[in-house]
Amino acid sequence: MTATFPEQQRASGAAAFGRFSPDQALHIFDRTVDSGHEPGVIEVAPRTWWIQPGMVNVALFETDEGLLLVDCGCAGDGPALLETVRRLSDKPLHTVVYTHGHCDHAFGLWSFVEAGETPEVVAHRNLPGHLRRYLRTPGLNARINGQLEGSTGTRWLEREQDVVWPTVLFDDTLELEIGGERFVVRHGKGETDDAAWVWAPERGVIAAGDLVTGYLPNAGNPRKVQRYAEEWADAADQMAALRPSVIIPGHGDPVTDPDAILDELGAMARLLRLIVDHALAGLNAGVLPDAIVDSLEIPVELREHPRLAPLYDQPEFICRNVIRRYGGWWDGYPSHLLPAPQDRQAAEVAQLAGGVDVLVHRARALAETVAAGSGTVEDLRLACHLAEWAFLADRDHVGARAAYRDVLEQAARGQLGLMAQLNLRTSAQWVRDAERAERARSGQA
Ligand SMILES: [Zn+2]
Repeated sequence: MTATFPEQQRASGAAAFGRFSPDQALHIFDRTVDSGHEPGVIEVAPRTWWIQPGMVNVALFETDEGLLLVDCGCAGDGPALLETVRRLSDKPLHTVVYTHGHCDHAFGLWSFVEAGETPEVVAHRNLPGHLRRYLRTPGLNARINGQLEGSTGTRWLEREQDVVWPTVLFDDTLELEIGGERFVVRHGKGETDDAAWVWAPERGVIAAGDLVTGYLPNAGNPRKVQRYAEEWADAADQMAALRPSVIIPGHGDPVTDPDAILDELGAMARLLRLIVDHALAGLNAGVLPDAIVDSLEIPVELREHPRLAPLYDQPEFICRNVIRRYGGWWDGYPSHLLPAPQDRQAAEVAQLAGGVDVLVHRARALAETVAAGSGTVEDLRLACHLAEWAFLADRDHVGARAAYRDVLEQAARGQLGLMAQLNLRTSAQWVRDAERAERARSGQA
């Protein structure tokens, strides 16, 4: 995407990540690192609050019998959330629902437990497995989520005692009665396979978790486990069928206009299904994955929808995720099945081209045509390949390092999606690694 991105999407994007703190984002399991912001509080319906302690939202429902809390933020959000809840109500914490096991949604409850609260903790049956997967892959998850060591010496969930485990598991639907009022907890796969959302029929309020975020669904993340685009669309339809008057999303501002809610949920379901249908049609017709993704076209009313901005994920990645779900990991090119090492391929290409300098020159020339406005998106992507070959062919080549960093940075800046930006900038990390390795070698010499 380029500078033609609609301003309306940009504006909605500004609110999308809430009371974000870069420091907290790097220490998401650290109970001592809060967002540094005063929590946001909005009473969206009688005795019903949207609370935003940091990057993520929490929903609070007060009944005569006690409180229903949906999500509880990052670990460091716990104390501020407890204080905010206690400012709003003195009722005991009756029940907590985890909308899913992600690090920003299900880890602030320890503050309430330490304060003596004894709520039931409701989660979908797959949530404990999600947390146990975290316990098995802390190094992987810390790395792909950019986490730094916290005050307990860990970078990710590594200890069972660092989470308040659910006490009630459900499969499809769970009806709660609190203070004589009915609340319905529904399962719907989306970003995760353990997602839950809460419907408060007497208030017309849905607490959606990350099934609604106000930007393009995070259904294609390049470095994460499987996402579920079609079930996500189903969940959006189920929510729309209830005709809610308020949605408290997992991130961003609450939505309090019933027509806007229906429009958003409908557009989200259409877009996800369009991508799924396109991917399946391509797979059934024997089209290779790259070509399926390249031929994906999104109608303008969905592409420019103010609540579907590709601020985090993007349609191509969602399409790839659908392809992965139904196919294997192979991209279909025979030589890629058992490939020669990438460095060896790059060295051969560089040699055939006449040297690393030739690749660097061509990469920069192509990138410059794009910067000048005459080149295409494809030209910049080609420049990325050339710069990468140059770097992999000779990691000690100063010009190749600079071109690799600069050209991929140009590509990153042309993207709106955070995942594309961060992952394209891996080149800068690799260049730093090469420089460090060189210094270490010269230090030893
Ligand atoms: Zn989230």
